[in-house]
Amino acid sequence: MSWHPIKHGVFACLLAVICYGMALGQKATSCANCVTWNKAQPPFRIFGNTYYVGPHGLSSILITSPAGHVLIDGDLPESARLIAGNIRLLGFRVEDVKLIVNSHVHFDHAGGIADLQRRSGAQVAASKWSAEVLRKGEVGKGDPQYGSLPPLAAVKNVTTFHDGESLHVGEITITPHLTPGHTPGGTSWTWKTCEGAVCYNMVYADSLNPISAPGFRFTKSREYPHAIEDFEKSFAFFEATPCDVLITAHPEVSGFWDRLALREKGVKPDAFIDSGACHKLAEGAREKLRQRLESEGKQ
Ligand SMILES: [Zn+2]
Repeated sequence: MSWHPIKHGVFACLLAVICYGMALGQKATSCANCVTWNKAQPPFRIFGNTYYVGPHGLSSILITSPAGHVLIDGDLPESARLIAGNIRLLGFRVEDVKLIVNSHVHFDHAGGIADLQRRSGAQVAASKWSAEVLRKGEVGKGDPQYGSLPPLAAVKNVTTFHDGESLHVGEITITPHLTPGHTPGGTSWTWKTCEGAVCYNMVYADSLNPISAPGFRFTKSREYPHAIEDFEKSFAFFEATPCDVLITAHPEVSGFWDRLALREKGVKPDAFIDSGACHKLAEGAREKLRQRLESEGKQ
């Protein structure tokens, strides 16, 4: 076998990537879409004390105060390093993140939480159902995607909250709203962000997609018997909640990057302000559920 510099170079690089991943105690990537989701994204201010710190394909939001910060979603295991880097790029300290919360406990939104908790020392808070999953690091049995998802890195010291019970860090007040359906413990978040006298109602929306592992039926599930009622409750929340700026766990669902482009080009400086966005989100999700239930009815 002859020595081939390119082949051997590639092999050495591959080994280096694998070894680097192993040294960090992480897999190089977690899924087929993960490299795209985890594409680096420079962090930026959305409005007031609210910043985007996630990779390009998965939202992670930092809400800051002089007495400490709140972080929503940790994304993939391999996103944690990137999120921590983005927080520093903005001039904040990761160690000042005092509270980490989550939309839902799938590996693409909660996979990086254990690592981010280690880096920051922050408290992690979750709904009762989600907290159980985070503590064990196993996908919950009532999850429509149970059996088709990888486990999570278990998270220590998870506290729980009730629907609508506000949480406080310094002057930040952030309120969880249970929006189940995609998972039984799904949570959306609201808070107010101001620039001078101008204040907006911010909404971070959990996923509302009725997707499942093969064989699961939303119309007939022993593990998740009230899935449809849960979705209805979630849609009703989005139809009623005051909503000026909507951010979704997958940013493109709320047209996030189109809005940013309009703002950056100066075409629409207030492109993120859209009081109809939550209603539109609920309408779209309601239609997706209708189609899913219709297809289950034909099976
Ligand atoms: Zn999910």
